[in-house]
Amino acid sequence: MTRAVRVGGLPIGGGAPIVIQSMTNTDTRDAEATLAQIHRLEEAGCQIVRLSVYDEGCIASLPAILQGAHVPLVADIHFNASLAVQAVEAGIHKLRINPGNIGNARRVAYVADAAKAHGVPIRIGVNSGSLHRDILAKHGGPTPAALAESALEEVCALEKAGFSDIVISVKATSVQTNLEANRILSRSVDYPLHLGVTEAGTRAYGAVKSAAGLAPLLLDGIGDTIRVSLSGDPVPEVAVARDILRAVGLYHEGIEVISCPTCGRCGIDVAGMAARVEEATRHVRIPMKIAVMGCIVNGPGEAREADMGIAGGREYGLLFVKGKPMKKLPIGELLPALLEEVEAYLCRN
Ligand code: SF4
Repeated sequence: MTRAVRVGGLPIGGGAPIVIQSMTNTDTRDAEATLAQIHRLEEAGCQIVRLSVYDEGCIASLPAILQGAHVPLVADIHFNASLAVQAVEAGIHKLRINPGNIGNARRVAYVADAAKAHGVPIRIGVNSGSLHRDILAKHGGPTPAALAESALEEVCALEKAGFSDIVISVKATSVQTNLEANRILSRSVDYPLHLGVTEAGTRAYGAVKSAAGLAPLLLDGIGDTIRVSLSGDPVPEVAVARDILRAVGLYHEGIEVISCPTCGRCGIDVAGMAARVEEATRHVRIPMKIAVMGCIVNGPGEAREADMGIAGGREYGLLFVKGKPMKKLPIGELLPALLEEVEAYLCRN
């Protein structure tokens, strides 16, 4: 198990539930726009939000942003020790830096001392696109070993400054490199790991690539916090991250809709009904599985693990509970009956 690091009171690592995070893409100097995006991320279920802090204008915005946000915030800072220290003094909950680009040992110690004095952890992040030339030459490219070695060098720089409140991330655009680099790190250190596939792409492909890159690690018990990187608005990243955790059995809150792919036997609009179930049950927090299946021949059996569901037919369909048929109903009454059953279940639980 990794050691625990606390980010504004929220634990990462040490066996705590995996934390979902994202990053704003507004100009941090615009406190109002940044805060509005943070609030949208919070509403979507994001638990930590990172911001780019690249100049004094961003630092000037931090007090208002910190005051208006309800989740811990991380300042993403490159090349500038002074900005990192100012962000810490403004009350930021975590820093994301690379000691290697912050400067010499004296500058790294300057940041580490400030972070330590304020109880602020530091994430060091190594990406396949930003490895030092000497490491690339030694390993012949951005290999898993190169990424892991670079991350461990950054960790070493902080440890030499007497700092150990560290989270590590190594991210590659290649899923295979990403997997192997994180496996090496997980064998080498007990610091919490922040997982993500960097520059995963646009919404649909990026979601698939992130799932491919994160699920094998999560299933092996590797990873303490995740960020899905999708081009564009960051808010959809949160739902994708949650769905990845749900799919690997690490997120249990709310409704999971199980729906069949449909085939020639299908008697109802499975996709439309499944979408309406998702929409109508978005407020539900208790864990529950609801199935929407296309036919009564295989539907209830295929969805035996669901708490309840419907299965279509030509004129009539079934409402079933735990795979057992409960009511035979005309097709038009199936969905209302299912939603009534869900409400009744919620009242009982
Ligand atoms: S549940 Fe029925 S309609 Fe859906 S895929 Fe299976 S056999 Fe086809």
